[in-house]
This record gives sequence, structure tokens and C-alpha cells, in this order.
Amino acid sequence: MAFLKFGLSAPMMEGVRAMGYTDPTPIQLRAIPLILEGKDVIGSAQTGTGKTAAFALPILSKLGQHDARPRVLILEPTRELAAQVETAIRDFARFTNLSVAVFFGGVGYGKQNDALKTGVDIIVATPGRLLDHIEQGNCQLNDIQHLVLDEADRMLDMGFLPDVRRILERCPRSRQTLLFSATVPPQIETLIKWAMHNPETVEIGARRSPAETVKHVIYPVADAQKTDLLLALLDRVNYDSVIIFCRTKHGADRAAQLLKRNNHAVAVLHSNRTQREREQALQGFRDGRFEVLVATDIAARGLDIADVSHVINYDVPQHPEDYIHRIGRTGRAEATGDAFTLMVAEDCKHVAAIERFISQKIARVKLENFEYRYTALFEEEKPGQPKGFDRRVTGARVHGGYHFGFAKKRKR
Ligand code: AMP
Repeated sequence: MAFLKFGLSAPMMEGVRAMGYTDPTPIQLRAIPLILEGKDVIGSAQTGTGKTAAFALPILSKLGQHDARPRVLILEPTRELAAQVETAIRDFARFTNLSVAVFFGGVGYGKQNDALKTGVDIIVATPGRLLDHIEQGNCQLNDIQHLVLDEADRMLDMGFLPDVRRILERCPRSRQTLLFSATVPPQIETLIKWAMHNPETVEIGARRSPAETVKHVIYPVADAQKTDLLLALLDRVNYDSVIIFCRTKHGADRAAQLLKRNNHAVAVLHSNRTQREREQALQGFRDGRFEVLVATDIAARGLDIADVSHVINYDVPQHPEDYIHRIGRTGRAEATGDAFTLMVAEDCKHVAAIERFISQKIARVKLENFEYRYTALFEEEKPGQPKGFDRRVTGARVHGGYHFGFAKKRKR
């Protein structure tokens, strides 16, 4: 078993086996030895690359036995990510007696305080709620030995960096610090200089490229036909599970209503929903009760939802890096997936920015037998066809056999 050569602890190896992992992913291959050596590491791998195991397995290996004081702190930008990482850690740690707790806002303090009183080894938290616990005197970080700043660029976007700094000031200086970020903007560089000690960088693939396993195309359409095209796509695409991204919470609610009226089993995920509603939406989507999840970027960032066959960007993302994150929901851990982006005239600027960011032209395609109304977008793309519409995708089958069939969708 290829994991053997790392020298992970026996209970971790049992955990790996129970998870069914046989070969380490590229980031695991490169990061696990460095983390075991005690180095600070900057990882620029995207979500879906196995980065949680890349940091969790070596850290948990080093922790050994339960000690009832927080020795590991993992900061996450959103509640969903925190919950997801906590679950992964529980899975990896199931053959140890280590205890893990997750702290995030939007829920009561009772259970979180109880966990702190009982004594935990590993804390996974969003910055705001952790600071509340610290300020209320419920939580001390004096014994932290391993600190993980996950999705650091998103913490920056969400305005959490000042909170992160306040938290870091309460951790011992002699600690191991690991930072994961898909992009490294200047503010993160500054944080790295301030918080890390001689870090090694582990960069997996080009930082800005979408996963190679994702086939992604653009559907230009007149604004007035966006909803019709969405419904037609869902009708014709052979999907198992699909995430539809919308720009705003309101837009997500509207899209969900539309899909419900058209008999799709839909869940919605955005930050105006209660924690319980969000958990139910995710759980229902994971276990297949809902085959469509409508989400906003913040809610969906980094979520590990297995078997997403398709991503549809109902709205073009405003930030190019969100494009990578969105389409990263499909094509996870080497499974192939398809990502479609609906583009109306006013999106041209954002699409151009995305194409610059990923250094790729994204193919424009038309849905066969859909009654398109005229849009100037089609004109713009015409001269020198290859640049715009992809001839390969105007036929009944698309992209040499990737499953864009016109068969009715498969039921699970
Ligand atoms: P992450 O990037 O940590 O969100 O992980 C993405 C998915 O890949 C999760 O479902 C993991 O359980 C899975 N995964 C992580 N490492 C491996 C591995 N070595 N082999 C197979 N699947 C893995």
C-alpha cells in the first residue's frame, strides 16, 4: 500500500484503509512527509485534491494519545467547511481516542461549551465563534502545536483576516503552521511572513487551472431565455446530481422555486438559511433525496459533495477564482464531470476575465433543438468560428462522447 512509506501511525493507517484510499493524491505525496518532519507548509492545491487528508493524517499521527487540551487548531472560512473537515477528522481518527470539536456561529453555545469542558484535542472552527469562546474564557490556545489556516484566500475575501490575526496571537510561537490557499494575494503573503517560519511551498498543478477532469463549456443566451435554457438543460442532460450556482441569495431562491414548479427535487444553500436548513439541504443532496442543489458561492465554497455529475453556473461568477471553485465541485478526486455556464450579454466582461485568469478560451456551445431568440452574443462570436462556437458541440453528441446525451436523465 503506497501510504505505508510515509510512516504514519498505525491507527492512522487503519483509518486510511477504512476510508478505502489506496494511493496518495499528489498533494498528499508531497505534503505528508514535510508535515511529518515538522515543517511549516503552504499548500496551493485546490479543493477536491485530497488536501484535508494531506494535513490531517500527519498531524493526527503526531498527536498520539488523547490529552484533553487543544493541541490542534484548524480555521475554516465557513460553517459548512468546518463541519465537513470535522467529519473527515472523525473518520481518520476513528481508531484513536483523540477527540475533536467544531465551533461555528448560528447555533447555540451549549454543546460547544460542553465539549470544551470535557477537553478536546482538536478544534475545527470559524474565526468569529472561536474568538467568542476565547473572550468568554472558555477556550485557551496556549497548548496549540499545529495550526491550519484552510482556504486562507476565502478568509481574506470574507474579511476574517483581522480575526485570524487575533487568534494567532494567542497561539504559542513554537508551533507548526500550515496554510492552504488556491491563490496567494499580497495580504496572504503578508500573513505568511508574519505567521509562518521558513515555510515550504507545495504547489499542485497550475494554481489557476480548472481540474483537468472537468469539461466546461459556455451557453450564450438572451437574458429573457435564461430560465428556459436552464430547464431545457436539466431536461436533456444525463445528470445524477447537479449544483446550480446563483449570484445572490434572492436569485438562488427564485431559481429553486422555478425548478420546484417544474418538478425537480431541489435543495437550497445560502447564508440566509438557518443552520438547520443548511444541514438538511446538504444531507438531502448527499443522500440523493434532492438531485439539484441551488447555491451561492459562499455557501458552497470547498464543500465536499461526492458524485456531483454537473455544475451549472446560472450566473457567471463575478470573481474569476470563484469559477475554479465552482467547477471544482465536479470532477473531484479524478471523477470526470461537466460544468456549464450560462452567459448573457452583460456577462461578457466577467467571462473574458475568467478566460484570462485560467489562460484558456472556454468553448461556446448551443443546445440542439432549443428555440433560441436572437442575441448579439451569437454575432460577436461568429467571425473566425473556431474562436467562438465549437463546431464539435453543435451536433447531437458533444465533445467526443462526454455524457451530454439527449436521453432523459437517469434516476438514482
Ligand atoms: P478534499 O480535497 O480534502 O476535500 O478531498 C476530496 C475528496 O477526495 C474527499 O472525498 C476525500 O475523501 C477524497 N480523497 C482524499 N484522499 C484520497 C485518496 N488518497 N484516495 C481517494 N480519495 C481520496
